[in-house]
Amino acid sequence: MRSRFRRPAALAALCLAVCLCLAGCSLSSGAGLPYASASSSPSSAASSPAPVPAAEGALTLHFFDVGQGDATLVTTPAGENILIDGGPRASGQALCGYLDALGIRRLDRVIATHPHEDHIGGLVAVIPRYEIGEVVMPYYPATTKVYRDLLTAIDQKGLSITPAAQGMALGLDSQSAWQVLWPPEDAESAAGDNPNNASVVLRITFGQDAVLLTGDAEKEVEAQLPGELASGLLKVGHHGSSTSTSAAFLKKVAPGFAVIMVGQDNSYNHPNAKVVQRLTQAGAQVLRTDEAGTITLQSQGQGWQRIED
Ligand SMILES: [Zn+2]
Repeated sequence: MRSRFRRPAALAALCLAVCLCLAGCSLSSGAGLPYASASSSPSSAASSPAPVPAAEGALTLHFFDVGQGDATLVTTPAGENILIDGGPRASGQALCGYLDALGIRRLDRVIATHPHEDHIGGLVAVIPRYEIGEVVMPYYPATTKVYRDLLTAIDQKGLSITPAAQGMALGLDSQSAWQVLWPPEDAESAAGDNPNNASVVLRITFGQDAVLLTGDAEKEVEAQLPGELASGLLKVGHHGSSTSTSAAFLKKVAPGFAVIMVGQDNSYNHPNAKVVQRLTQAGAQVLRTDEAGTITLQSQGQGWQRIED
């Protein structure tokens, strides 16, 4: 399957040169500058405290403030670190800063939910910088420069890509279970011309808790997600856009916490006011990265807790 993602070697070499010039953080520049945010960026990173470290034995999620985009670090009860999306390219350096501040040297898995820039841009900086166990992506090729740059970074690292497919179990430890709910193996057919609907949707369970991470999946996908969806924590789809978070879906998920990853004063007017209202009326506590900066939630298997300094 890896070969489906590969590009001609000559192009890879050409892109490497570009990549080395454009990478948002290098091995030497990121250290010591954890919050030197790039322009578009983190809403409040300049004044944010260092991210709260994951507690031993807990399932911890850091929803990083990367401005308009998604970047979520999941730390398993056994201590593995999985990065889901990397935010926009302009926030790559800030993202590396967050990871450095948490003492991360290895990412056991990197999952790119879909090929939009606000999800994969920052990964172009992350991939060369850290030891990476595995890269998981839907098979939904794009023609954009940022996508080519990501493939180049992955190639240069000698990594293969595991295509995400519905039904896969992505768990690394024996305590938390990771289920890929979307997309089907043929993500292109399933998503049509809308890359959002190729988004990897993941449900992670630990003890009696669950978290549902939906990328930018829209209502059509929400309606097709299989199995149990009830989750105390929801990463709200598509930055709180009206294209996602249908009432029917929300009824099935019934989250206690709903995290919206969104940039301040973004040009998309995300999140949609009706979506926020729908979440609140469904009983969820809505947390937004544009208001709160990086948000940390943690489970010991008996209920989600927001962790603050
Ligand atoms: Zn997005």
